[in-house]
Amino acid sequence: MVWMVRFIVAFIAILSFISSAFGGKVYLSLLTGNPGGTYYPIGNAIAGLINKYVPEVYVIVETGNASVSNCTLVGSGEAEMAFAQNDVVNWAYTGAFIFSKPFANIRVLASLYPEAFHFVTLKSSGIKDIYGLKGKRVAVGEVGSGTEINARLILEEAGLSYKDIDVNYLEYSVAIQRMKEGKIDAFFYTVGYPAVVIEELASTKEISILSLSEDLIKKIGKKYPWLSRHVIPAKTYKWQEENILTISVMALWIGASSIPEDIAYKMVKGCFTHINETYFFHPKMRLITLDTALEGVTTPLHDGAKSFYKEKGLLK
Ligand code: GLU
Repeated sequence: MVWMVRFIVAFIAILSFISSAFGGKVYLSLLTGNPGGTYYPIGNAIAGLINKYVPEVYVIVETGNASVSNCTLVGSGEAEMAFAQNDVVNWAYTGAFIFSKPFANIRVLASLYPEAFHFVTLKSSGIKDIYGLKGKRVAVGEVGSGTEINARLILEEAGLSYKDIDVNYLEYSVAIQRMKEGKIDAFFYTVGYPAVVIEELASTKEISILSLSEDLIKKIGKKYPWLSRHVIPAKTYKWQEENILTISVMALWIGASSIPEDIAYKMVKGCFTHINETYFFHPKMRLITLDTALEGVTTPLHDGAKSFYKEKGLLK
């Protein structure tokens, strides 16, 4: 996957060079996530708006392993833009936790919508809470995903570790397939709901989405301020009759500091001015608003985005 991304990125760089040499468009990549998640449809919606309203730019949407991998690729100059969770963006920018060096060129263009940690199992599994995972086969997210980082730290704060479970790093569509076949007992996904893969699983199996305890959420929030208490409302998914208590992070739209200021300004403006045209892409589109454009942002904004938010009175 990384090689494919590199190939596409190199291709885009060549296109950019050729087109700028002839006074044409700037080609920018936008790394998203798995097609079964929410980054991908929302990335397509936002790219569509930019491609329509910012004639100088052409955005190319790519699938990928999401947050950690996206921050690494933007941070190392191999991609221009991406979506990533705000906890991961903070660690990437500061070079903390899972990152061994800071990626100081990462800038935030906008905060988009909350992503909830989903702890999914089947009713028939008999698993009732996080402690019920001991000895079970758990898909913890893809390598390079924010989900996997959240899974690790949530287990740790609950006093568990990867040693207590049978860890599987699976792509989400494979995880649900294995779950249908009885080869996986549970899976995690930090994602804006509803997520297509979970809906698909619920269409053939009686799923059970489990809550985290109030105490565990408090403990996690104290140590990791980006992870806040969140409720997945009852009936978000088939079989889910009750509210689910969990944690959430904010999905951020990030870009490299090397994106020219006027281009970043025009992209953010184009996006927020016409966002209502994209509501049909995913229910989370309606949560992408100027009011929440800076929510959960703890690392620097891109200068172009800053100018737009100043103009709108969000910043001084
Ligand atoms: N938040 C997820 C991650 O970074 C990706 C979710 C999505 O693709 O919608 O791992």
